[in-house]
Amino acid sequence: MPFHQVNSIRYYYFDIFDSEALTHAIFTRRGGLSPEPWASLNVGASALVPDDHARVRNNRILAFDALGRDPDSMFDVWQIHSADVICAEKPRPRDRAHSQADAILTDRPDVTLFMRFADCVPILLHDPTRQVVGIVHAGWLGTVRRAVTITVEAMVERYRSRPEDIRAGIGPSIAAHHYRVGAEVAGQVREVFGDEAGRLLPTQGAAVQFDLWRANQLLLEQAGVREIQVSGICTACHLEDWYSHRAEKGKTGRFGALIALNG
Ligand SMILES: [Zn+2]
Repeated sequence: MPFHQVNSIRYYYFDIFDSEALTHAIFTRRGGLSPEPWASLNVGASALVPDDHARVRNNRILAFDALGRDPDSMFDVWQIHSADVICAEKPRPRDRAHSQADAILTDRPDVTLFMRFADCVPILLHDPTRQVVGIVHAGWLGTVRRAVTITVEAMVERYRSRPEDIRAGIGPSIAAHHYRVGAEVAGQVREVFGDEAGRLLPTQGAAVQFDLWRANQLLLEQAGVREIQVSGICTACHLEDWYSHRAEKGKTGRFGALIALNG
């Protein structure tokens, strides 16, 4: 399995990305400071994740330090399950409130894109021709809203990327076998994906599941992206490494993912 370890910090990486050109990681929950139920490298602090803010900040600094990225270079957002994309020109000033969005792009090496996850799909993007990186947060809602499609379109419009140049990594997140969905979600998947919906909604007895990995891979392919790597790691199956909102019934933390261009 493609994991690296730096001191106490263990993270997953995609081997399709050029490590000369960019730095990226999807951090496991190991090696941080938080106690149960957030143990231990929790990087989320909100009404849903009532961990101590100073501890969460220190966890994030540990993560950035392990990758050699300045913690003050971070650009992060308030993730709301939208398909809104922000192009970051500079790090988010510490005293500035988060903007709401679920995708961030940058062509600036002094900006580190950062997001938080616990079952939703992290999608990392790199255009090695135009030197642009991106990160997308896609749960079921972000997937039916085609957040990753809209992000690729933004790369084309804003940075003149060609979709066939873009490389994409679909990171650890909840697998279909652990992701039973109700009739309303299944209905929206059918509406958005049409004839393809059948293979995105496997069944187990009477239960319907949603294959978020395949759905986002399909959206990327339809957008013209050719090089796609899927981690195939289920967060709910591997609670030793990942937080899972579903498997831990909401009492859990958030793991971090970052991507940045090397200077
Ligand atoms: Zn699983």
